[in-house]
Amino acid sequence: MNDYTPQHHPSEALLMDHALGNLALGFGLAVDVHLDTCEQCQGDFRLMQELAGGLLADTAEQDLGRHDIASLLDQLPEQEPATMPLVTVDSDLPAHLAQCFLDLNIDPGPNSTLPFVTRAPGIGTIPLSKEANGTFARLMRIAAGKAVPHHSHNGLEVTALIKGSYEDEVSWYGPGDFVEHGPEIKHQPIAGVERDCICIGVTEGPLAFTNPLYRVLRPFFPV
Ligand SMILES: [Zn+2]
Repeated sequence: MNDYTPQHHPSEALLMDHALGNLALGFGLAVDVHLDTCEQCQGDFRLMQELAGGLLADTAEQDLGRHDIASLLDQLPEQEPATMPLVTVDSDLPAHLAQCFLDLNIDPGPNSTLPFVTRAPGIGTIPLSKEANGTFARLMRIAAGKAVPHHSHNGLEVTALIKGSYEDEVSWYGPGDFVEHGPEIKHQPIAGVERDCICIGVTEGPLAFTNPLYRVLRPFFPV
């Protein structure tokens, strides 16, 4: 899919939780999208599935997961009209993201467009799933060279990079990388200048903006 080989991977604890079926749907989606692109983690995950009794290898379980995501969408608030320039879908989307689009009635095919809604200058989102436990997954588009306001988290924040790159106080991340930040991390992701950064962001609590001026942005990152 990409020339870049992922350098950042889910922790063993997160992969094992996924193998055991213990992850919230949003976090599971981000892990699955990473697994679509990372052979190294695919091998580790298969082993963990065997250790976990092959729970997710059961087809009925996987069908139930997709059904759950679709039913959760009914609980999402209505979205504002799209105001960002339309983005054309590439033909090499990770399989689990393409399936999620189908569940959302978004055409994942080549040359279709994605309904990003502007949340802040240069930042657009598409809600993917919102769960009763507060876990919220959204597809994010950060315009090339743009920064997400400096923030910390009220819980786990996971990012699965799809396209482009970003850099924060911790490291640089490229396509396929998986980023796991706990509440102790304060950071400001800045998209690479080469192209817009497309990623799945999953949080289990509202973002905590460190600059008081940015707290007005919180409604734009709803949980
Ligand atoms: Zn990996």
